[in-house]
Amino acid sequence: MTYEIEIDEAACAAHGDCEAIAPEAFEVDDVARVIGTAPDELVMEAAKACPSVAIRLVDASSGRQVYP
Ligand code: SF4
Repeated sequence: MTYEIEIDEAACAAHGDCEAIAPEAFEVDDVARVIGTAPDELVMEAAKACPSVAIRLVDASSGRQVYP
């Protein structure tokens, strides 16, 4: 499975937790941006660590939302 990552910019409070966990995938300035890919497990860990639940993960093959 490969996750597509979407950031809810309105919800993101730029805490930086996502970048700390998966710096290959996230970069945080005023708001988090997706800059690349990382292993699914790491991306899921980052999504779960987001205090604002601003990271949405979608299964790229099925289009099914897998988080939150
Ligand atoms: S952890 Fe969540 S709120 Fe914090 S920068 Fe990343 S997406 Fe934004």
